Amino acid sequence: MLSVTEAQAIILRHAGPLPAQQLPLTTAALGLVLAEDVASDLDMPPYDKSMMDGYAVRCADLANGPGDLHVIEEVTAGKTPRLPVGPGQATRIMTGAPLPSGADAVVPVERTRMLENGQVHIEDRPPAPGKNILPQGREMRSGDTVLSAGAVLGPAAFGILATVGRTAALLQPQPRVAILSTGDEVVEADQAPGPGQIRNSNGPMLAAQVSRAGGVPRYLGIGRDRVEDLKSLIAEGLREPVLILSGGVSAGKLDLVPGVLQELGVQPHFHKVEMKPGKPMFFGIRAGEDGASATLVFGLPGNPVSSLVCFELFVRSALRRLLGREPGPRFVSLPLLEDFPYSTDRPTYYPARLEAGPTGWSVRPLAWFGSADLRGLAQANALVLFPAGEHRHRAGEHFPVLHTGD
Ligand code: AMP
Ligand code: MG
Repeated sequence: MLSVTEAQAIILRHAGPLPAQQLPLTTAALGLVLAEDVASDLDMPPYDKSMMDGYAVRCADLANGPGDLHVIEEVTAGKTPRLPVGPGQATRIMTGAPLPSGADAVVPVERTRMLENGQVHIEDRPPAPGKNILPQGREMRSGDTVLSAGAVLGPAAFGILATVGRTAALLQPQPRVAILSTGDEVVEADQAPGPGQIRNSNGPMLAAQVSRAGGVPRYLGIGRDRVEDLKSLIAEGLREPVLILSGGVSAGKLDLVPGVLQELGVQPHFHKVEMKPGKPMFFGIRAGEDGASATLVFGLPGNPVSSLVCFELFVRSALRRLLGREPGPRFVSLPLLEDFPYSTDRPTYYPARLEAGPTGWSVRPLAWFGSADLRGLAQANALVLFPAGEHRHRAGEHFPVLHTGD
């Protein structure tokens, strides 16, 4: 059977960034990846700028430290100085305002005292030329590349893009992700389940996972375990770059999904992965017709925990790749908080919590009753990977851990 690592490699071989789009730089673009180099259209600062509230002076006038200077004008931020500073003169200047010509340093106001006669007494040591001045273009020059293609847009990137006058940019767009729950027994959350029925936890859960991973979920409803019903809903889902199905991929009599997918032109790449939970996981691709983009198809096992784990291990990486981001998943090695005897026949992704302690982070496996136990999983913010076999894992032993939430 395919290992998780092999399965991940297959998916990533087939997932590439979506075509870039010119998009507005609203907060909807937070976390998206830039697909162009962005150059500055101006020098920053645009002029020699005062970094302090104080007095613009000529260092030559204060070669011995203290001195009295004649104040010739006041320049606040947003104003431009009219008068050059001549020998024996100073200009009152505020933080952010342009430096008047002739001046070569700013003395902070705290080091000065106003005199009666329109003069200011400077109490400071002799200033050095350039003191408290940010020279024009020090931060960036017009034409400089301020952000390169591949940058992930965080808050500082929004700031810099606004600085250089951009309100839109070429970005890797969010992939739309169709989500289809399947199963005769599944009813929506607003229904009271009848005999043998359960509520659809996977639909809302997968939509939330898609959204958190940077995709745009498009929920298609519940497909019944009948070929015709599944066919029309799956065909709808195949219009998107990604289709996620929950249920119907195991070995049961009504697990019709892989067959229907094949009928609709989805080429299977794997079906079953050496892992717990999530073994029946299916992945396939429907090639794009007439230049249309291909659809990555993930058939996740219906058990809620299997579905969640398979999303974190496989679908999230694909979505990140489509978004132009580093795909992951990134495991870190952390010590167990307490002894944990555990036997399993396949590598197991076990719900756990990260705990901060005096010597750093450690991981505590949670009480969990297997792949249908969503309640146990809801307490988890991590998955810890335990190897197959009969083990008595000891406190302090290190295991790979995937951080999955807060
Ligand atoms: P399946 O993969 O279709 O064989 O389903 C495996 C198990 O997961 C069964 O017990 C289903 O009832 C359950 N299940 C399937 N789909 C969902 C869903 N959308 N929400 C909650 N449980 C589900
Ligand atoms: Mg089913």
